[in-house]
Amino acid sequence: MHLTGLEAEHFRNLEHIQLEPDPRYNLIVGQNAQGKTNLLEAIWLLTGCRSFRGVRERDLVSFDQEVMRMQAAFRDSRREQHITYAIQKSSREKKITLNGVPLRGGSRLFAQFQCVVFTPDDTMLIKGLPDKRRNFLDLCCAQIRPKNMDVLRRFENLTIQRNQVLRSIGAGNGTPLDLAIWDAQLAVAGAHLSHIRHSYVQRFAPVCARLYNIITGGREQLTVEYQSGMYRDYEMPETVTEPMQDYYLRKLTMSSTDDIRLGYTSIGASRDDLLFKINGKPVRDFGSQGQKKSTALVLKLAQAEIYRHSQGQSPVVLLDDVMGELDKSRQELVYSIVQEMQVFITTCNEGAVLGSDRGMRITIENGKIL
Ligand code: ATP
Ligand code: MG
Repeated sequence: MHLTGLEAEHFRNLEHIQLEPDPRYNLIVGQNAQGKTNLLEAIWLLTGCRSFRGVRERDLVSFDQEVMRMQAAFRDSRREQHITYAIQKSSREKKITLNGVPLRGGSRLFAQFQCVVFTPDDTMLIKGLPDKRRNFLDLCCAQIRPKNMDVLRRFENLTIQRNQVLRSIGAGNGTPLDLAIWDAQLAVAGAHLSHIRHSYVQRFAPVCARLYNIITGGREQLTVEYQSGMYRDYEMPETVTEPMQDYYLRKLTMSSTDDIRLGYTSIGASRDDLLFKINGKPVRDFGSQGQKKSTALVLKLAQAEIYRHSQGQSPVVLLDDVMGELDKSRQELVYSIVQEMQVFITTCNEGAVLGSDRGMRITIENGKIL
């Protein structure tokens, strides 16, 4: 999959840009605060996902403007498709079309245009709280099967409802018997979600190990483990089974007294986490800056590779400032890993060269492509 054309108007500091990117390498060069990350963010918006910077949509419209407009074309394994995207600041309205057909929201785009993005903030995947890792894992799972997102939504809604009931009981407005109806449904959804995440990590972990081995020249071994908030000492079966759901339900019921006291569900898939180790030691506690960054980068490259294997086409890879903190040999190896994919790489280093003799150099200055 690759982006063949992009035009954006009043996207952050990008007043008006027009671009026909290279199907492989695109090196975005410019000094600080010129609009490099903004350009990646504009491309990312075409996936229908929230900004990777976590901002509100209307913040993407230029400060002194009312409307942001974008149009883009991309080619997947079958055909060329067209997206238009507009955001109006004051009404907070957005208008999206796919091949001329208006869409209600961005979720249809998600199944059509796929990116994997790496930014320096992704070290928070290593250093931050478990919810960052769960969000990442869920996005990965949804990328290879959008229906997985429905399981997650159902699980999240049921958890919210169960937590409300827990607090009501805690406040004296109900009895533990009121939990039964929620526990039964949550056990089904929780078992399903745990299974989806576990299955993904089974595929993901060996790819991460291999890629990390490549970028460290075999000197360091990375392991990725799924830490289930429910099935710690339980052998996960090939498919979701009734005993698996029963186990979830039993454990939920057993923790109900604690949960009523706490006011939230303290076990289950809402407590899942990922654990990363280099040479057997948790990266979070013992990794250097460079190791944390390399680990985060490898997670994203592995995400791209799993997508490619499962969908038969590559996602577009957006690498924001990947050069900093990575030594030259790691940078070269990163290039070699993404060479089959369309990649956009930003850098402040004017002297940076493309990872191959092909490709396009995009110089950005003050929100304009030179
Ligand atoms: P760095 O190398 O420091 O990461 P960059 O080239 O990636 O720099 P961007 O993050 O793309 O820089 O931001 C460029 C500029 O866009 C910033 O100066 C920022 O203030 C500006 N900016 C952000 N949001 C808006 C907006 N809504 N309207 C106008 N300008 C904006
Ligand atoms: Mg930037």
